[in-house]
Amino acid sequence: MISLSKIITLVGILAIVWFAFRLLGKVQRQRQDALRRNGGVKANPKGGAATRGKTTGTDTQDMAKCDVCGVYVAAGSGRCGTPGCPR
Ligand SMILES: [Zn+2]
Repeated sequence: MISLSKIITLVGILAIVWFAFRLLGKVQRQRQDALRRNGGVKANPKGGAATRGKTTGTDTQDMAKCDVCGVYVAAGSGRCGTPGCPR
């Protein structure tokens, strides 16, 4: 039996999913705009793809363990970023 509370719950879940997708698209667009503004794609359209292909072919990033707090952070990033870590 379909009750009113079930319908309301379903609508609520759908609304949350819809908002999540909207937010995701907005973040993605902002990231692409930032990339374009930095000249990554516009200045060197082929170079952008080439440099990406050089790094293992996927969007994964090498991780490096912080020798101070032991948290794994992106390799090459100078700072650890963990709150309380002196590095
Ligand atoms: Zn650290």
